[in-house]
Amino acid sequence: LVVLQDVQKHFGPLHVLKDIDLTVHHGEVVVVIGPSGSGKSTLCRAINRLETIESGSITIDGKPLPEEGQELARLRADVGMVFQSFNLFAHKTILENVTLGPIKVRKQGKAAAEKRAMELLERVGVAHQASKYPAQLSGGQQQRVAIARSLAMEPKVMLFDEPTSALDPEMINEVLDVMTALAKEGMTMIVVTHEMGFARRAADRVVFMSDGQILEENVPEEFFTNPQTDRAKDFLGKIL
Ligand code: ATP
Ligand code: MG
Repeated sequence: LVVLQDVQKHFGPLHVLKDIDLTVHHGEVVVVIGPSGSGKSTLCRAINRLETIESGSITIDGKPLPEEGQELARLRADVGMVFQSFNLFAHKTILENVTLGPIKVRKQGKAAAEKRAMELLERVGVAHQASKYPAQLSGGQQQRVAIARSLAMEPKVMLFDEPTSALDPEMINEVLDVMTALAKEGMTMIVVTHEMGFARRAADRVVFMSDGQILEENVPEEFFTNPQTDRAKDFLGKIL
């Protein structure tokens, strides 16, 4: 579904993505881990075309990423992204946050969009907050709304970039539970996270990045018990 081939990217002299090859199949959950500055966010942003790449190719469903315009808007709808900060529209209600994209980009009618939005808010456990504004919700609730908002676009793949790192500890699990359920339902997901419990539970594959390179790719069990490179061993030693 998502295929990266020999992707290269620099920020000035810094080579942030080096020869990245990665294939994510339909329904697969890939967890990306690695030290700070290793290029995990840049990788996610490249897949959503929030960053351009210099060479190599990224395709989704066999199609290269579009350059601009309507096609790009459709790409952003097909590739849902949830960030560390929730990025909800502060002056719109929870319900409006979720219906805006479907109405504007997917051209859904308001009633249909609201019905679907309420189902999704129900699913992430915040339906009773639908008429409130983002600031009236806890961080964990806001992040669940952000997930519902992405899902409302019927994405082909969901990218998560450290979705729980800005949350208080007691709210982390409510977000991870929503993500785990989504993974079980067969959503294709690329998840950057430091939550190793989630990686063990939900990932089909773990990708370890360091200095812009993918150093290891393995099933979680193997990766965590038997890392191959010194850098992965070192990293796991620090976080586990
Ligand atoms: P973290 O775990 O801290 O989120 P990361 O693995 O997500 O790290 P990236 O955010 O992808 O890392 O950054 C990779 C490298 O590129 C870092 O050295 C960072 O400082 C640099 N970088 C990221 N964005 C830019 C930018 N817009 N301009 C210049 N350098 C950048
Ligand atoms: Mg990052």
